[in-house]
Amino acid sequence: MTDKEQMSLFDLTPSEAPVTELPKASVGKSPSAQKTTRSSKTAAPAVSVPVAEQFASLDALRETACNCQKCPLASTRTNVVVERGDRTAKILIIGEAPGEQEDLSGLPFVGKSGQLLDKILESVGLDTNKDVYVCNTVKCRPPNNRVPTEIETTTCKPYLLEQIRLVDPKIILLTGATSLKSILGEKLGITKVRGKWYEWEGRLVMPIFHPSYLLRNQSREQGSPKWLTWQDVKVIKAKYLEIIGTEPVVDEEF
Ligand code: SF4
Repeated sequence: MTDKEQMSLFDLTPSEAPVTELPKASVGKSPSAQKTTRSSKTAAPAVSVPVAEQFASLDALRETACNCQKCPLASTRTNVVVERGDRTAKILIIGEAPGEQEDLSGLPFVGKSGQLLDKILESVGLDTNKDVYVCNTVKCRPPNNRVPTEIETTTCKPYLLEQIRLVDPKIILLTGATSLKSILGEKLGITKVRGKWYEWEGRLVMPIFHPSYLLRNQSREQGSPKWLTWQDVKVIKAKYLEIIGTEPVVDEEF
């Protein structure tokens, strides 16, 4: 299968306003190579949840989150949007915050962006229900899909950190500015860091374009956001296969 044929597998027609704004910040210092064995590593902040505040299970986390009133978003949400996918997945994907469809359904990434995310993963043989765990940085929808505030992100972060600890993924994918800022630091810009591996808390982390950005940029030309994402998902799939001990099936144009 050619790149063109495989990219067409995650093609969607843009039909709704993007939910997430791309980061505008520039990179301070970023890794210089995509290989995880590179010598240059990002000094992402080491963070953890105090043991006394840890959850015994994802069910316990979910129950607490669904009753959470810790930040102002509790007063405007319909549902708390905690998770979807496989709780034992090797790949964990972090978005920004629930949009309208997510707020109504209680599931992350179920709108147009979510459909595109599924197609992107499917294009390299990954199933969002079996191979990945999906969550957001902030669990409740900000009014009018605005970007979550610093207070909201910080207040909700213990849930995210606990999801990471309990799912224990080998690979974390950051989509959009908010998850990038929350996990790797605030001076990073997605256009500079996407497609690069970082080491964070003993895990591999890669920022990628948010699907909503791809919906706004339909070009498949070399160097376009969609083309770059196609390169990224191939790298991610190869690393995933390496981690689970399966030899990658390399496409002729890979
Ligand atoms: S966004 Fe997070 S911290 Fe705020 S109310 Fe919802 S679950 Fe609680």
